[in-house]
Amino acid sequence: MNSPYVIDCGTAGEHRWRVTEGFWDEILGGDVEVVVTVGDEGGESGERVSVSIEGTARVICDRCLEECELPVSFSETVDFKGEVDLEEYIFESIVLGLPFQRVHLSTNDCNPDMINRICSA
Ligand SMILES: [Zn+2]
Repeated sequence: MNSPYVIDCGTAGEHRWRVTEGFWDEILGGDVEVVVTVGDEGGESGERVSVSIEGTARVICDRCLEECELPVSFSETVDFKGEVDLEEYIFESIVLGLPFQRVHLSTNDCNPDMINRICSA
């Protein structure tokens, strides 16, 4: 496997990645810290893995269509088994961790020209 996001759930420990460029599709980019902790208390059903994803992602603002940075915050506990490639999982979690409305946090941060155009339309 070429993915750098492979973990072995049979081995307890902490994995950290900084997700920056080269990972994104519908997201333009970002800087997200991913911390995956494999617990050692897992039973036969697999290992308990806790995931925490925090950072910022760059997306297109739905209001003014310019780039904006939004906070990403996601955490959950999952049961994985054996060796897993988390690349897809991490990507989907980042998308899920984004606010539902992808717009600048304040209207003042939006491109004023664009807002004027929309408001006068
Ligand atoms: Zn905006």
